[in-house]
Amino acid sequence: MINLLEILRQFQPNQKVNYDKILQKMVKIWQDEGIRPRILLHSCCAPCSTYTLEYLTKYADVTIYFANSNIHPRSEYERRRAVQEQFIADFNQQTGQNVQFIAARYEPQTFIQMVKAKNLEEEKEGGKRCTACFQMRLDLVAKKAQTLGYDYFGSALTISPHKNSRVINEVGIEIQEFYATRYLPSDFKKNNGYRRSIEMCEKYKIYRQCYCGCLFAAAQQGVDLKQINAEANAFNERVRDEKQDNLSINR
Ligand code: SF4
Ligand code: SF4
Repeated sequence: MINLLEILRQFQPNQKVNYDKILQKMVKIWQDEGIRPRILLHSCCAPCSTYTLEYLTKYADVTIYFANSNIHPRSEYERRRAVQEQFIADFNQQTGQNVQFIAARYEPQTFIQMVKAKNLEEEKEGGKRCTACFQMRLDLVAKKAQTLGYDYFGSALTISPHKNSRVINEVGIEIQEFYATRYLPSDFKKNNGYRRSIEMCEKYKIYRQCYCGCLFAAAQQGVDLKQINAEANAFNERVRDEKQDNLSINR
């Protein structure tokens, strides 16, 4: 199975890397070899996984790994997780695909302690705190991919125009050195990927959050976390009620 390092070796030192082109080269190699790899893909809420799944499931079997202890508060974490799961169910139903979903344990203290230990509380969004946040989450994805024998691990976040895909890819490449799996490079916003993700959010009626996730960025942005908490609790309650109703109907 192709490792992106084999492709990167052909680059000159300091040559700008187009990670989308590298992914396309890898896809071509899978197709030529008649391989359909298994990919464990990190996502922190449904929007980034939309077009990403539409694209990747043409060539690979994908499982979404929801490893996001950075999200605050817990109610919002639960809301995003529920929306992600619902999107996967709807996507599978509409497309006949069989995307799977796994969630890591929610351990917000681990994230907060990591940020404080590195003095990253005051960093702006897009700065060093975000790099550390990608490292923490991608490390979990690689570890899980190794445990479960996935061919590749990767991230749907490169579709977001608010995220630096070069940084995400460099973090992924660094992390693959420590695990018996391979990093899947990407820049999903290319080829109109981001535009398509907005279309798909509308089509599937997906909730789009107004802040990235952590309490540090939310505070800097002036996000009203009390309101977020109230809205998320109301949403989660509705989901629980609907599940109860479905259980009663099926009894
Ligand atoms: S980067 Fe933003 S939009 Fe994309 S999955 Fe994460 S929280 Fe959602
Ligand atoms: S702004 Fe987003 S990516 Fe950056 S540290 Fe916070 S949750 Fe992580």
